[in-house]
Amino acid sequence: MTCLLCDKALDDQPTWQHFLGIQKDMSACPICLEKFERIDHVIEDDVLDSVHSLYAYNEAAKEYLHQFKFMQDIALAQIFATSLRSVLNDSKKIIVPIPMHPINKRKRTFSQVDALLEAAKIPYQSLLEKTTESVMGEKSRSERLAMTELFRVTADICSNEAVYVLVDDIYTTGTTLRHAAEALKQRGVQRVEAVTLFRPIREK
Ligand SMILES: [Zn+2]
Repeated sequence: MTCLLCDKALDDQPTWQHFLGIQKDMSACPICLEKFERIDHVIEDDVLDSVHSLYAYNEAAKEYLHQFKFMQDIALAQIFATSLRSVLNDSKKIIVPIPMHPINKRKRTFSQVDALLEAAKIPYQSLLEKTTESVMGEKSRSERLAMTELFRVTADICSNEAVYVLVDDIYTTGTTLRHAAEALKQRGVQRVEAVTLFRPIREK
């Protein structure tokens, strides 16, 4: 077994049992894992009842996402499986991945958020579809940008009493997650939370 990030053999590495919450199914070496900074940053607002971001979006995170998303290295989904499982292990909550835009889905071979959840063995429901309204007539650039992240709920909401948890790889402005939460709330969902793997932090 070799480290998924640096290809070094994992055999002679010390076992860092609790490091980053990653235990027996460790898929990267401690030297690589040490570069990820666990932050467990939580915010709350009106639309998103809570957003929990697990790690800082630092250099290691940037490299990871590049390799994972654009180089399509699906094995990398394993690295955060245990961390994600530990925060998404409530079977009463309904896990909803943020989908890719259909255009991107054609270009990439897999949805990275779905892959993260599958690696973590977390059941999820793909309730959302990303849409871009066709731009008719003259719209300003800002109007067009504002329209790029709309979501449609594609299935019936069976229980609006349940807590829905959106999952995305990174929290940046929160616009994507807020739009997705709004789409669910318009269908009667009362509480929408979110979990993201990364979130940018200000340098100290
Ligand atoms: Zn490594």
